[in-house]
Amino acid sequence: MTANSFHPPERTLMGPGPSDVHPRILEALSRPTIGHLDPVFVGMMEEVKGLLQYAFQTENALTLPVSAPGSAGMEMCFANLVEPGDTVVVCKNGVFGERMKENVERCGGTPVMVEEEWGAPVDPARAEEALKAHPEAKILAFVHAETSTGAQSDAATLAKLARDHDCLTIVDTVTSLGGSPLKVDEWGLDAVYSGTQKCLSCVPGLSPVTFSQRAVDAIQARSTKVQSWFLDLNLVMGYWGSGGGKRAYHHTAPINPLYGLHEALTILQEEGLENTWDRHQRMHEALKAGIEAMGLSFFVEEPHRLPQLNSVTIPAGIDDEAAVRTRLLEQYNLEIGAGLGSMAGKIWRIGLMGHSANPTNILNCLGALEGVLS
Ligand code: PLP
Repeated sequence: MTANSFHPPERTLMGPGPSDVHPRILEALSRPTIGHLDPVFVGMMEEVKGLLQYAFQTENALTLPVSAPGSAGMEMCFANLVEPGDTVVVCKNGVFGERMKENVERCGGTPVMVEEEWGAPVDPARAEEALKAHPEAKILAFVHAETSTGAQSDAATLAKLARDHDCLTIVDTVTSLGGSPLKVDEWGLDAVYSGTQKCLSCVPGLSPVTFSQRAVDAIQARSTKVQSWFLDLNLVMGYWGSGGGKRAYHHTAPINPLYGLHEALTILQEEGLENTWDRHQRMHEALKAGIEAMGLSFFVEEPHRLPQLNSVTIPAGIDDEAAVRTRLLEQYNLEIGAGLGSMAGKIWRIGLMGHSANPTNILNCLGALEGVLS
């Protein structure tokens, strides 16, 4: 087979992620590759850690990007904190809570499920019931921003409950980081993972994580070895210089994607975290006005809606929703998301994430939807 260079079309990405990558980040990715132990690269890694602390609003020393997508950050949290026989209370209100359960089981733990209707946030009262019924539980795990539905849960209240019951928290912030308020230290979150392809507008394939001292103490007190070599924090810390001592080779870092992340976090710092959160909220309000003017409605109740992930109920009479998305893609170069899991055929997911959350995109999206639905 003779292949030609691959040139993807220019799309507008308004689905559940990846989002539009900022041109400054695309440019950063094309800078010269240098060695991953080069002192200049190591200096940049230190800056990435500091910038991630800002993005997560934490002073946790153990804050770094895992060299793999959000699911690997998730797996790192579970693999390091869950030992065989541990009980973990897992709150599930969409696809990613189910993935957490899988992780607990694969680590040899016992998940205790707190299940909510899809589209609803996690109910703290029900989480508390489970914590009371399972005093042996070691961890409370939940998704802050459930991308499969667009519902946001109250991470601060859930983390407080966990502490009151002497549990650590594992928190999925893949869709919230850089899009809506996330305050790791103020809320007392312990093991937190995210992704780069959503509100940071960077390329997929990296997973920022941060661990509190309580989480680090628990990892260091393990009686069994972490079953994954690649995700064992005791080893990763040595490379990222978070365990003190000399930086040692662990794996070859994804050098150019890390330039991209550095640029993404620099852009975030320039705009300012609060301003970024405000912009996402303002763009959500603008989209909402247009969606409602078209007679469409939102799937999630107003107080629990994520500004960066808008689930719109597919109106009656649309029998082939995939055909709508195909027309948006082919005629308008616009990507929006389908419903995942039990939401398939019921909702469209319109992402307003990072660089994609801008007025031009909103006008284009509303115009395109109007064109396709009329
Ligand atoms: N958690 C949530 C809430 C997500 O939205 C996603 C991806 O969409 C993931 C985890 C997994 O991230 P990745 O696809 O980067 O592995």
